Amino acid sequence: MRIEEKLYTLRYKKDEKPHLAIINPSECLKCAEVNGVPQPCIAVCPANVYSWINDKIVVAYENCVECGACRIACPYTNILWKYPRYGLGIALRYG
Ligand code: SF4
Ligand code: SF4
Repeated sequence: MRIEEKLYTLRYKKDEKPHLAIINPSECLKCAEVNGVPQPCIAVCPANVYSWINDKIVVAYENCVECGACRIACPYTNILWKYPRYGLGIALRYG
């Protein structure tokens, strides 16, 4: 099954409060120099949550499928990662 098909099996209730944030944007600049672009958070995310725009990481937290990969991949522990608040975020459409 392709990743797009898997993502289709999820439904999402948006939490108005972001559950992901970059702790220190200047670490991301350093990360771009050391690791290149796309940086690890962008490369690892299956849902295209992170983009590098004007030398800043933009976080489209609404797309997050809560896999947790970015918090492991970030070499600088620079992502504040929480689950969305209770009852919000992703749920399986089937099963
Ligand atoms: S991997 Fe971490 S430090 Fe690197 S750009 Fe992403 S959030 Fe910033
Ligand atoms: S938890 Fe997974 S889907 Fe969410 S932003 Fe991180 S890598 Fe992307």
